[in-house]
Amino acid sequence: MKNKESYHMDLETFRQNGHAAVDWVVDYLKNIESYPVLSQVKPGDIRKQLPVCAPGQGESFEAMLKDVQEIVLPGITHWQSPGFFAFFPGNSSAPAILGEILSAGLSVQGMLWATSPACTEVETHVMDWLVKMLGLPEKFMSHTEGGGVIQHSASDATLCALLAARERVSNGEVNKKGGNGKLIAYTSAQAHSSIEKGCMIAGIGTENLRLIDVDENFRMRPEALDAQIQKDKADGLIPFFVCTCVGTTSSLALDPVAEMVRVTKKYGLWLHVDAAMAGTAAICPEFRFINEGVEDADSYTFNPHKWMFTNFDCNAFYVADRSALINALSILPEYLKNEATNAGAVFDYRDWHIPLGRRFRALKLWFVIRHYGVEGLQYHIRQHVDMAQQFKQWVIDSDAFELVVDNPLNLICFRHKDGDEVSESIMAEVNQSGEAYMTHTKLNGLYTIRMSIGQTRTEMRHVEKAWQLLKEASDRFG
Ligand SMILES: *Cc1c(COP(=O)(O)O)cnc(C)c1O
Repeated sequence: MKNKESYHMDLETFRQNGHAAVDWVVDYLKNIESYPVLSQVKPGDIRKQLPVCAPGQGESFEAMLKDVQEIVLPGITHWQSPGFFAFFPGNSSAPAILGEILSAGLSVQGMLWATSPACTEVETHVMDWLVKMLGLPEKFMSHTEGGGVIQHSASDATLCALLAARERVSNGEVNKKGGNGKLIAYTSAQAHSSIEKGCMIAGIGTENLRLIDVDENFRMRPEALDAQIQKDKADGLIPFFVCTCVGTTSSLALDPVAEMVRVTKKYGLWLHVDAAMAGTAAICPEFRFINEGVEDADSYTFNPHKWMFTNFDCNAFYVADRSALINALSILPEYLKNEATNAGAVFDYRDWHIPLGRRFRALKLWFVIRHYGVEGLQYHIRQHVDMAQQFKQWVIDSDAFELVVDNPLNLICFRHKDGDEVSESIMAEVNQSGEAYMTHTKLNGLYTIRMSIGQTRTEMRHVEKAWQLLKEASDRFG
């Protein structure tokens, strides 16, 4: 039986708890080096500490925070630890977290301009800022035929690019009638799995995705792409889409975009550029060579939620021709009709991505850019690249390890000279130490350790420590 006026947390209690939550996050980040980077729990360890049923009566915030400390924290792999060198950075920063708090406080649905005009306009504006910050072509800006939108993830961006390309090549027929199994997409044999998944979801079919050969530096070979397209055309199929990678996940290989453009232009195919991790580097003019040729791409994506101090989720997606994207994704039921939309005077971002609802993600990105300024972002990106290049030199100079690919950015791929088993044992030992965490890939069939440097608080001493751990493990196993 209800025995009080309301069950809501009253606002003054919320204020106090909010301060406690921020204090908790600050203390967590202050103490982060005291936790093992890779969580050491076994499957089921966390759940067995939770009550079987939800509480009948509400509990205090103190009780929740206590459980986060005691139950949740041991089950966390600390992506915000400066010793996190695994996968790719999933970094964050204080301004991003503050933006996230305000976004949750406003809790608007930004599906239409009319459902919260600022949610759309700040997003459009910040996406335009980013075009200039990264030296991307003007045709991705909102005053042209193109424009940018924040997506949930690079996987969603690539899926949307596929859908737009699919509708463009079929004149809207696939949306109406479904596919005929003849559309063919192309990407590098080193491409991220999201391209294959996108082909599954978009009804292209994985057998209609061609994985193109790479060269000795794991870059897609333009002549192999050209030859495959010719063969498919000769077989009566319909090539329509190429996804090229600026920074593959495995080794950060940089496809030659300009050469891909030559091929896609020849056949009139949609060219999508997946720069999910490496894209951020273009904030520094000296790294803009990675995007050479992008002026002729149809779409481009990178993840501020990887290497730009903006916590997940925040993906930036650009198209040169927004009508292709909107034609693929727009439907207008009666209950969403409104004057601004009818007049065509505004962007309704629900037509630019898969879901209807969307949260105010631009706020955290706006805060990050305003806090650091372009100069601050450049400073930290350069630091990360410098540290990675220093690490690379240690590998080159070492008797025990060898470099697998020479990468100019922030991911170093290397292995032990004694082979796969030794490399694997060394990495396991380093990860077990709790002081660093790295992951592996296979390149040319060989076990390869990846050292990915891009965590917000990583300093040279953390990279030195990781190298020392690797050398110690090598003395034991090598
Ligand atoms: C990480 C990554 C992706 C996937 O990113 P999500 O935002 O998690 O979908 C796609 N492509 C490349 C090259 C990546 O590095």
